[in-house]
Amino acid sequence: MRTQTLPAAGETTTTSFFSKKNSGHFFTPAGHSFFKPSGALSPDLQLSPLSDQADASWTASKDKGKIFDILRSNFPVTKSDADLRQCIERLFAQGTDDRWLASTILDNGPEPLWPGNLLAQRQQLAQQHQWGDEPGHIQGTLGTTAGGRSVDSFFFPGKTDNRALIVGGFHGSELSGIAVTEILLEKLRTGPRPFYTVIIVPRLFPDNAAVAEGKPKQIETGENVGRYTKGTESTDHSTDPNREMPKLGKAYDPAVKKDAKDRPMEPEEVMLLELIDRYRPTRIAAIHSTHTLNDAGIYADPRTDSSGFALGYDTDKALALEMAKKANEKGANVPGNKLGTKNETGLYPLDKPIVDAGKKQERATSTGISLGGWGSTAVCDPKLPASNRPAMRVITVEVQQAYRPQDLDASKQAVRQAELEAHAQALREIFLGDVQTEAGSQDPCVSAAPPPPPVKKPGTK
Ligand SMILES: [Zn+2]
Repeated sequence: MRTQTLPAAGETTTTSFFSKKNSGHFFTPAGHSFFKPSGALSPDLQLSPLSDQADASWTASKDKGKIFDILRSNFPVTKSDADLRQCIERLFAQGTDDRWLASTILDNGPEPLWPGNLLAQRQQLAQQHQWGDEPGHIQGTLGTTAGGRSVDSFFFPGKTDNRALIVGGFHGSELSGIAVTEILLEKLRTGPRPFYTVIIVPRLFPDNAAVAEGKPKQIETGENVGRYTKGTESTDHSTDPNREMPKLGKAYDPAVKKDAKDRPMEPEEVMLLELIDRYRPTRIAAIHSTHTLNDAGIYADPRTDSSGFALGYDTDKALALEMAKKANEKGANVPGNKLGTKNETGLYPLDKPIVDAGKKQERATSTGISLGGWGSTAVCDPKLPASNRPAMRVITVEVQQAYRPQDLDASKQAVRQAELEAHAQALREIFLGDVQTEAGSQDPCVSAAPPPPPVKKPGTK
């Protein structure tokens, strides 16, 4: 049985690794390919090399960051590697932050796979003991697709434990949205840490994105190549990936893995829902693109209680509009927000009108439930109470058209690049900034409906 001693609250000593002069240790290079564990190898052959590797790395460089990266990139083999565990216990003294971090990675893998409470603890230790600046960009693989591609996610610790999630590539055909998330990754990797802690999934459906990337001449032809896992807009296609969420107000059920219309969820959808369930973000941004030019913009879904009664839209709208203004100021087209007019709006053009707090909010649900609808509805599910959560703020970015810069004539590429950068900038400065932050703990099972009128007793006025 392993014991773990955490530093006492208020303890002021820090380990040398986390001193401010040591920065850069958490860097995981982009495109770093992870060791793929194979069950076929005997444990003797497979497990010892990792502890040898950790030992050799330590002897050669005395760089603790490299040890953490060895642990991250070899999960889940690390979990049952007794030699490696002993090696870690030898290298990092009990009770130190180093030991805590190494043990937590051994057990849980890289940070994108951690449950939210451990990330909260990580944040607390980093603040209390003044860990050095971390560039983040810690990669975790959420799973592997039918096409053999990994669904990658990247963790960046923020200045606070407020948690955000950013997802690109719901629709593989929307290559500009994927490009925006990739630009954002680069900006975060090289710049100051954001206010929000964030996990970014740049391409949720990498197989579908690869189909679209293989047919760049088809972009914006209306065929929507890569939008669905099977088929296109004009041929028989599978369920829209953004209509595969659970019933409004209900939890994702890992034993069933079916959407609100009783259809089996695609594996990528399951990966996303499992991520949301363990990570517990308070806000999500999904990055799409639209071929309807006037629909381009940045929108917020109205949050409701688990029964669909509105919680009030003002702050959701304010966040969407602040993002739209920033994106527009930097060169993005957001006509759908009608900025600067009396009709300025944060509502997605195809969505039902917003109602006042306490009123029943209608949603478009005929083809299934979108991330925006499900995410912005509180979950209060008596069957799966551990998955209850407050309504999340969900922002949808609709980039105007699906083109990446390289899909356009050379003369148009610089303007296009600037437009995609503008969206990334709005995500970074506003969405991940100290803007309209969500209130602390809210009970997801509290009703927002007005109390029923008092029943008049016979004989009273
Ligand atoms: Zn889309």
